[in-house]
Amino acid sequence: MSTRISAAKLLQVWERGQLQAPVEKALTLLAAAHPDATRETLAALSIGERDGGLLSLREQLFGTELSSLTDCPACGEQLELNFNVADIRVGPTAPHVPLYLSHSGYELELRLPNSVDLLQLTNYSTVGEMRARLFEQCVVRAVHHGAVEQANEMPAEIVDLAIERIGEADPQADVEVDLNCPECRHVWQTGFDIVSYLWSELHSWAWQMLREVHVLASNYGWGESEILSMTPQRRRGYLEILGA
Ligand SMILES: [Zn+2]
Repeated sequence: MSTRISAAKLLQVWERGQLQAPVEKALTLLAAAHPDATRETLAALSIGERDGGLLSLREQLFGTELSSLTDCPACGEQLELNFNVADIRVGPTAPHVPLYLSHSGYELELRLPNSVDLLQLTNYSTVGEMRARLFEQCVVRAVHHGAVEQANEMPAEIVDLAIERIGEADPQADVEVDLNCPECRHVWQTGFDIVSYLWSELHSWAWQMLREVHVLASNYGWGESEILSMTPQRRRGYLEILGA
């Protein structure tokens, strides 16, 4: 990701992603950062690779500092959570190396879930069903005492171990932030979802941009694309003169 993404392009991404499900929104965002990659290529990335790419995009668009509000589960105090992209960036992993699990006579070859797998889960309503389906999709080969075994006939213990193995192999897919409450000193961890975080930032940015275009176009009569192609500094300069 080397080229800068223009304001006009970013507004298109926001427009396109509005009605999309989160898994598709993630791909739409990633495509903006990787204009030369096909959607198929991006959809085949593991979830950790995808989220690593989205963190890089976030850094490029809005910087490295992240913050969000959360409630302490012990005393209910609202806390402002500040952290850095580096705090949740997991080191480089090797997501395409085959994973093996060997337990109680079962030999499994597994792969990491990707966006295509997640898109296929939309027809399932319970977490249990989704988990079972995702497991089946990620079993490349399963053998029990030398005989080929169906993924949907595996004991729960093996399914749990396999899912754990998959999670360990793609840690960027499930990052947690350490928290401690200054009021009651409670210490806990919370998950961080880069897709919803980045999307809500883009949403606020887009509305801000539309307001700026509206004010400048109303006052100066300039066209939308002219205004969008200005640097943020120049737009802000005119807005300041207008007192907007
Ligand atoms: Zn607390």
